Amino acid sequence: MESDEKKIKIAVNGGIGFGSKLNAKQLLLISKYMNEDEELELTTFQQLYIEIPENKKEEIIQEFENVGLACYPVGNYVKSLRTCNFCKGEEREGMPVAKELNKRFAGKQVPFTLKMAYTGCPIGCGEPMVSDIGVMKFKDQYNLYVGGKGKGFDAEVGMLLKENLEPEELYDLIAEIIDSYAKLGKKRETFFKFWRRIGKDQLINV
Ligand code: SF4
Repeated sequence: MESDEKKIKIAVNGGIGFGSKLNAKQLLLISKYMNEDEELELTTFQQLYIEIPENKKEEIIQEFENVGLACYPVGNYVKSLRTCNFCKGEEREGMPVAKELNKRFAGKQVPFTLKMAYTGCPIGCGEPMVSDIGVMKFKDQYNLYVGGKGKGFDAEVGMLLKENLEPEELYDLIAEIIDSYAKLGKKRETFFKFWRRIGKDQLINV
C-alpha cells in the first residue's frame, strides 16, 4: 500500500452474534489493508480500529461487509451495540431485536461517544445498567435503562426508564432519546451529564 495515501480510521467488528468473534477469512481481509509494522487497536467498545485509504473507503467497506464484517465511523457517534453472548439461543434472547437496534442506531452522530448495551436476560452479561442506554430482555418484552456510567469515581447504575416494551415501542423510544441528545446536547457533553441536566420529561418529549 502506498505510504503517501491519506488514511482514515474506521471501526470494525463481526456484528451482532454469539460472542465477539472474527473468523480467519475476516482476519485475512483486515490484514490485507495493513503493513507489517502497523497495529490494530482493540477498544473497550468491542471494535477494532483500522486505517484505510480515504479514496478507497467505499469499496473497502463493501469488501469488509461481503465477508460479514460490520463497519462504523470513529468519533462522536453511537457506538456499535455491546451485547451479551446470547447463551440461551438466538430467538429466546432476542438477537433479532439486538441486530435491529444496532442497524438503526449505531453510527448516528451525537455530541459525544454514546455507549448502548443489550442483554438477553436479567443476568445482564451485556452490562446494560452501566451504559448510556441499556436494554434488557425480560420474558418476552424489553426494559429500557438510561444514564448508567461505568467509568470514574462517580460510576452509577442507570435508571429504569420504561419496562415491558414491545420491540417497536423500544425502537421509537430510543430514537426519541437519541434525537433529543443530538438536538439539545452541548458540544462534547456526555450522555450522562446531558441526562442529569435535562431530566426524564425533556428527554422523551422534545
Ligand atoms: S445475559 Fe443471559 S442470555 Fe445473555 S449471555 Fe448472560 S446469561 Fe446468557
